[in-house]
Amino acid sequence: MSIKIDKKITAYEVKKPEDEARQEDQKVTAIAPLLERDEILEGSTYKIKTPMSDHAMYITINDVVMKAGTPDEHRRPFEIFINSKNMEHFMWIVALTRITSAIFRKGGDITFLVEELKAVFDPRGGYYKRGGKYMPSIVAEIGEVVQQHLVSIGMMEGQLSTPELEAKRREAEEKLGSDAIAKGNQCDKCGAMAVIRLDNCNTCLECGDSKCG
Ligand SMILES: [Zn+2]
Repeated sequence: MSIKIDKKITAYEVKKPEDEARQEDQKVTAIAPLLERDEILEGSTYKIKTPMSDHAMYITINDVVMKAGTPDEHRRPFEIFINSKNMEHFMWIVALTRITSAIFRKGGDITFLVEELKAVFDPRGGYYKRGGKYMPSIVAEIGEVVQQHLVSIGMMEGQLSTPELEAKRREAEEKLGSDAIAKGNQCDKCGAMAVIRLDNCNTCLECGDSKCG
């Protein structure tokens, strides 16, 4: 069977025999259109400097303004770019930014990305940022930048750092040492690998969530 296609092809899928059988009783549902790019986008550039490399990484996230001029006006991230003089990570960074940008453009809830990225740990070991915060990997730090951006445009709630959290981090470092912090468990609330046992409480050094007993 052949069908003449007179519209632009925007998506395709490979059919399996079982799909053919099921197709009869399946309703056609439209796929939401991707967000469109305006000519000029507003964005923010974040600098991260890790002890893993001599060169800083610059992460740019550009936003589109949705429903401009209405009471529902809000920003959504549209694309992400990462630049660095260090070419060591070039290939996976390009892959990561392309996939992340594609997810941004699909619309809907994108906050899961933050949790996924922040749960990535480097098998060679993570590192400490200035201020004593443990980062399990560069990918996790990129996740934190995305989070910081989503918080700043109102798509995510939360505070990344408060004086209480910083005090907890210092306390944990003094009492448990950096090795114990580096082996933190995953937090149910924020997904970070940052839950440690401190004074009979399981405390997340990332979001402050704490369960005692
Ligand atoms: Zn947490």
